Amino acid sequence: MELAVENKLVAKNILGTMADAGHEQVMYCQDKATGLKAIIAVHNTVLGPALGGTRFWNYTNEDEALRDVLRLSRGMTYKSAISGLNLGGGKAVIIGDPAKLKNEALMRRFGKFVDNLGGKYITAEDVGVDTRDMEFIRMETKHVTGLPEWMGGGGNPSPVTAYGVYMGIKAISNIAFGSDSLSGKTIGVQGTGHVGETVVKYLTKEGAKVFVTDINKERMANVAKEYGAEVVSDATEFLSRPMDIYSPCALGATINTKNLALLKCAAIAGAANNQLEDENLHGQMLIDRGIFYAPDFVINAGGIINVYSELLGYNREMALSSAEKIYDTITQIVKSARNQNLAPQLVAMHLAQERINQVATIRQTR
Ligand code: NAD
Repeated sequence: MELAVENKLVAKNILGTMADAGHEQVMYCQDKATGLKAIIAVHNTVLGPALGGTRFWNYTNEDEALRDVLRLSRGMTYKSAISGLNLGGGKAVIIGDPAKLKNEALMRRFGKFVDNLGGKYITAEDVGVDTRDMEFIRMETKHVTGLPEWMGGGGNPSPVTAYGVYMGIKAISNIAFGSDSLSGKTIGVQGTGHVGETVVKYLTKEGAKVFVTDINKERMANVAKEYGAEVVSDATEFLSRPMDIYSPCALGATINTKNLALLKCAAIAGAANNQLEDENLHGQMLIDRGIFYAPDFVINAGGIINVYSELLGYNREMALSSAEKIYDTITQIVKSARNQNLAPQLVAMHLAQERINQVATIRQTR
């Protein structure tokens, strides 16, 4: 009963919330037969169709799912804009436990909803969703990327995301320590999933001392064993350990007041989306603590670069070479932020918005 009231209130405020963050459209989707409950958010389509993955997650309630999709879709707008791609920002969430709910019918039903948007929104993978799911979605709509290679796609974008994150970690190391060599650097990687694992691979290969944590103990142990990293199971112990670089590669909002009180690192650079619980408050706290920060939507753009390449005719080498430029973008933003005593996240958002505004003006002309 309480949940219904809460959801009613959210529904009542949703247009106001959308207006505050600048969202163009939010679509609620439900299908009793398959148990599908999803929300698709289109944040901005000035630069192009809104591209962003679908997250399948067991949210506590609809409010949490709505907040996530709104934040994630807005992040996609900035990510594509700062990466120079002709894409807008969108995202979808499917509510529920993928292990229990996910099947062909549900994913195809979701694909039909994506199709209803007529190309305004293009989907891809995110947490809880893989290339097989993209195949099912493709059976109902052409507005999908992250397809397997045999279907002309680029496969799972995680390796390209991880390569971009690795480039971002090297760039921030250069700023914080005067060298982009990671040999001997102590780096804590939180999350050993698709992206985290490959980040660990790059870091250990270069001689970094890596320790990892994950709520999935088996995965964490396997990754640590495979690449010679250390396991730190306890989340608080992980965050409290002195480290040169903290690399958040799990879910968002791990840079919050509680965790910042524990962290002893010179820099933060990782794959997770929406790392700052509060962009203004925690961005400022990082400046006050003298911690260099690689803005999440800049450093983790390898995935969107990879799926964008699918739209043009997929080429893995081109995608990796574009992701390599994340090194320069992070360097430019973090240095500029430091010179102006501003939070890197805000500097990156400003640059992204500037590009959107400029393109919006040329769109008005014939
Ligand atoms: P994934 O689901 O494969 O891996 C996430 C891992 O984090 C899992 O192993 C999970 O058990 C772990 N995890 C979850 N909560 C945790 C916690 N509280 N503490 C420690 N570990 C925890 O996802 P992924 O594809 O590797 O993506 C990781 C992050 O990077 C996500 O935030 C995602 O949105 C972001 N991202 C991914 C891509 C991509 O190409 N996959 C692109 C851009 C951004």
